[in-house]
Amino acid sequence: MSETLEGARNWLARIRQLPLEREVAVMNVCGGHERSLAMLGLRAVLPEAVRIIPGPGCPVCVCPEEDLADAIELATTNRVTLVAFGDMLRVPINAPKGQIRSLAAAREAGADVRPIASPQEAVAIARTEPGREVVFFVAGFETTSAPVAAMLAEGVPDNLTVLLAARLTWPAVEMLLRDGRSALDALIAPGHVATVMGANEWGFVAGRYCLPVAVAGFTAESLLAALYSVLRQGIEGEPFLDNCYPELVTANGNEEAKRLLREVFDIIPAMWRGIGIIPDSGFGLRGPWQRYDARLRHVIRSTFRPHAGDMPPGCDCAAVVLGRIAPDHCRLYGRACTPSHPIGPCMVSDEGACHIWWQAGVRPG
Ligand code: SF4
Repeated sequence: MSETLEGARNWLARIRQLPLEREVAVMNVCGGHERSLAMLGLRAVLPEAVRIIPGPGCPVCVCPEEDLADAIELATTNRVTLVAFGDMLRVPINAPKGQIRSLAAAREAGADVRPIASPQEAVAIARTEPGREVVFFVAGFETTSAPVAAMLAEGVPDNLTVLLAARLTWPAVEMLLRDGRSALDALIAPGHVATVMGANEWGFVAGRYCLPVAVAGFTAESLLAALYSVLRQGIEGEPFLDNCYPELVTANGNEEAKRLLREVFDIIPAMWRGIGIIPDSGFGLRGPWQRYDARLRHVIRSTFRPHAGDMPPGCDCAAVVLGRIAPDHCRLYGRACTPSHPIGPCMVSDEGACHIWWQAGVRPG
């Protein structure tokens, strides 16, 4: 038996011995955690009293329609080369029938839209085609923003700009905790984000909201260790921040990455799709870096979008992202909405809870 499997079994045995007298709702913030939990089938082996809720950890799901509409407009009207991480291409917006509703549709209509896997690819395309304006549509969390900051700090060709839809994770979680409607008892903090920003960033969960919190990695062993930690903290009534991913996460994170984030970006209020504006939750280019701002370089025709912040009609992605309903409680789940015909962003992205649950075999009841 591998060490990791043995470790996972040990943690599971310890969880099963805990005296859980009522249901405990634990939110995992990270789409990667949700993928591991679902694909490994961990929910099925946990005590019934443990309810694990996917949270707002899918950057594609919360990317505002306005930003997607700007990206489509840039690609179709301004004739730029629009590059974006692959997931973004299929995310639909609420455009009237007959109009282009996604970057993939823009590409089918002749726009130069290309999926990329890294910022380096965006730079390479701009260098290879110096006669074309290349716009890098950046939707992601701190783990995406830090490499983009490094890319800009290292120097990029003049024909490359960025269309920013980058977000910070913790302000959305704090908004959820302050609001209270998701009725959470504990939190599993995101492992990838914590590698960049440090475990300490999540201390506010225990400090200000008196809730157990643990940073987890992506193996069954690490996730179950974090789960055991928060359940036990709850039973003992002494919440604290536990780091169950010490192999990669330090207390203060990656200082160089954080320095680059501070150098290149300002922290600004930002719109989250289906949620609204969250203060201090977005990245904006600061000072000299604004010369790489696609919104300043190109004319984007802003059209009035009366329902721009909304999810598509009938789509409950906002409630899913906020942990208020499980993905399969959306009435479109697995019926009108599937990965091959997604209605909302949560069914598009590899980090979207609806997509993950569908891939893991959850079917409508
Ligand atoms: Fe939105 Fe589809 Fe998920 Fe329903 S199943 S919340 S329509 S993405």
